Amino acid sequence: MPTPVETRIKSISGCNFLNGKWAKSAGAMKEIVNPASEEVIGLLAEATRSEMDEAVENANRAQKEWWAMSALDRANSLHRVAERMIEYSPITGEALTREMGKPFRESNWEGGAAASSFRYYAEIARSEQGRVAGPAIAGQLQMVIKEPLGTLVSIVPYNFPMLLAGWQSAAALAAGNAVIIKPSELTSMTLLLWMQAFDHLPVGLVQVLTGGAQVGEYLVSHPNTHAIAFTGSVSAAQAVAKSAANRFKPTLIEASGNDAFIVMPSADVETAARGAAFAAFLNCGQVCTSAERFYVHEDIYEEFIATLSHLARELRLGSGLEKVDIGPMASRRELERFERVINRAIEQGAEVVCGGKRPNQIKRGWFYEPTVLKVSPEMDVMHGECFGPLAPIAKVRNLDEAIKFANDSELGLGANIYTNDLEETFRAVNEIETGIVWVNTPLNDNDAVPFGGRKFTGSGRELGTEGLDQFRRSKMVMIAPKAEADPEWFPYPDSDAYNASRPTQ
Ligand code: NAD
Repeated sequence: MPTPVETRIKSISGCNFLNGKWAKSAGAMKEIVNPASEEVIGLLAEATRSEMDEAVENANRAQKEWWAMSALDRANSLHRVAERMIEYSPITGEALTREMGKPFRESNWEGGAAASSFRYYAEIARSEQGRVAGPAIAGQLQMVIKEPLGTLVSIVPYNFPMLLAGWQSAAALAAGNAVIIKPSELTSMTLLLWMQAFDHLPVGLVQVLTGGAQVGEYLVSHPNTHAIAFTGSVSAAQAVAKSAANRFKPTLIEASGNDAFIVMPSADVETAARGAAFAAFLNCGQVCTSAERFYVHEDIYEEFIATLSHLARELRLGSGLEKVDIGPMASRRELERFERVINRAIEQGAEVVCGGKRPNQIKRGWFYEPTVLKVSPEMDVMHGECFGPLAPIAKVRNLDEAIKFANDSELGLGANIYTNDLEETFRAVNEIETGIVWVNTPLNDNDAVPFGGRKFTGSGRELGTEGLDQFRRSKMVMIAPKAEADPEWFPYPDSDAYNASRPTQ
């Protein structure tokens, strides 16, 4: 007997969400597979060009209606979006677990976490819409007003679809924009169902177009979309940034991470290892801010590894709809890619402490055991993004070495340190070249504090007031109380001419 959510998924299967409705696409269809059971749960449409053109037209029309409303009315509507997201969270949560595997607790959490960013932006957007400067001409009103960019294309990955589409949509809508979301092929049903939360907004203001890279490419280069927010891999980010640059579209890029996790002897090893297990294995390691590279001080290296591997062995794997800690990886392709990362590490001399294989007891689904490896810092596994349930751990002699290795990366999203030493804390905060540093508190974020990275991780920021400004443009406005001739105008006085004021020596 299918659950009500399975039935809902079937009913929106093969649809886009256009102009306030789920509409069957005329595009090619692909099967959507549950990664825990390998069963087909629905169909994914590749949106056609005419569907995309229609969505862009709808969005631009709705955006004008939205921006014509009062800031207070927009804020109230966004609070209502947040309420509805929380109300629907168990439904979208079940859909997300069925689509990409994460435990229901995490899927259900996403609905509430996305709602929180809507509440935050509902308020800060109405508290200011620009600023007034001290006038350069007495008596005038000289100011900057902040205007929306128009229609935002929000391209999101599979690992946190509601959270990430939520961060971008909340800020963009609060700033007065329309949004077209292009979800990952692996989590489109969840974002299609999520559209229920927006049903009281102007029709066409928020839409979802499903499909692969080509759908994203078309929307990015479309002459009538105005800004891009991209979250995903570096190679896709580069393609998006290049295409958007052709039309000088403002572009937010949130690409890959390979966050370092440093543990110093002053830390409590048991707590640091629990934090490490969460940071490395949450969502099967498919988190942009996963701890990807561990640098542990030699005095506690063996103790830390023993504690972390004990915790890793205790984690329960299985379908995200059962009582488990870790679900499957999101797709067969991801699992096979991750296995190549592990195999390469072993080839280069990594020692498997635990895991390192698919679980023997689970016969179906794309599961992989949480894995702890002893490695050395130069191995490939410490220089890319593994994006799977892996903690590769290298030994360091001191903090200088740990910071040097942490900075030896082309990516720069986040970094962690566990320490109880104030000087080490200050050094990590000041010297690590990332957009985020966590001291004794891995993976956390805050709607009110900007999130984003450096280097190949990208440019721009989500969340905080910075996240709102990402989707607004400034307009310089000067108002004189009445029309008066300006002494700076023509004709210029002869006394200012070159011959009159030329130095004689
Ligand atoms: P991906 O790059 O394969 O896909 C992301 C999205 O981009 C999908 O919707 C995809 O269809 C679309 N896309 C791919 N190529 C495109 C192109 N040429 N033009 C337009 N759109 C295109 O990433 P993924 O595998 O879904 O997600 C995992 C990656 O996302 C990891 O690298 C992870 O670190 C990153 N990520 C980063 C953050 C962050 O905030 N920095 C957050 C979450 C995930």
